[in-house]
Amino acid sequence: MSIKPIRLFGDPVLRTPADPVTDFDAELRKLVADMFETMYASQGIGLAAPQVGVSKRVTIIDLSMGKDPKQKLVLVNPEVILSEGRQYEEEGCLSFPDIREKVVRAAKVRIRAQDEKGKWFEMDGEELLARAFQHEIDHLDGVLFIFRMSALKRSLNLRKIRKMQSEGTW
Ligand SMILES: [Zn+2]
Repeated sequence: MSIKPIRLFGDPVLRTPADPVTDFDAELRKLVADMFETMYASQGIGLAAPQVGVSKRVTIIDLSMGKDPKQKLVLVNPEVILSEGRQYEEEGCLSFPDIREKVVRAAKVRIRAQDEKGKWFEMDGEELLARAFQHEIDHLDGVLFIFRMSALKRSLNLRKIRKMQSEGTW
């Protein structure tokens, strides 16, 4: 296992729709293990493969941040199949260090995904888990949370990021 560098906003891999996974092999298992190690090292609750530079439809979630092994989720080729309601809560993203903003999401979602071995399953999520599902699946479509913010918040944050980029701190 190894910790991989996390790609920051501005890296084109984050805006590229990821490719479906077709081989459920050792390479996939290594990717997933590296992603968990990388996510825990950064104290995140979700990470998508494009954030470590791999344009594949793989994402992991662990709302317990490594404290409860039962909460470790691996979603391969995930899709949202049902969504309802609305929530408006603060989100962050490991590809946007120190930026947190409220984003509109569905309150409840049902997802369908494959596990590391290729077996399909369905799962329901509410509140934080529903947000994590939607945030991570967005990553696989090349959609970043800054594009889910209000136009005002987006332009303020883009200005802040551009300033950091020009100072070499992003
Ligand atoms: Zn993110």
